[in-house]
Amino acid sequence: MRKAENDRNRCVACGLCALRCPREAIEIRKGCYAFVDITKCVGCGLCEDACPTGSIKVKEYEVARV
Ligand code: SF4
Ligand code: SF4
Repeated sequence: MRKAENDRNRCVACGLCALRCPREAIEIRKGCYAFVDITKCVGCGLCEDACPTGSIKVKEYEVARV
């Protein structure tokens, strides 16, 4: 399962990732950082391509088996 994750310490809240996201999964919070709603994210990577600081990255997560 691929999901975007943002490093808030490097994010400059420019909003470019949110503009590119086809799922509207990214919200700029308090004018400070991009928040990713992982329930909407499909891991496409467009936000990562758009980010000028390299703070948002798509990562692979293990899916827990029950
Ligand atoms: S990986 Fe795709 S769906 Fe997920 S937040 Fe980035 S642009 Fe949106
Ligand atoms: S594009 Fe990068 S720096 Fe700009 S708001 Fe998104 S995560 Fe932050």
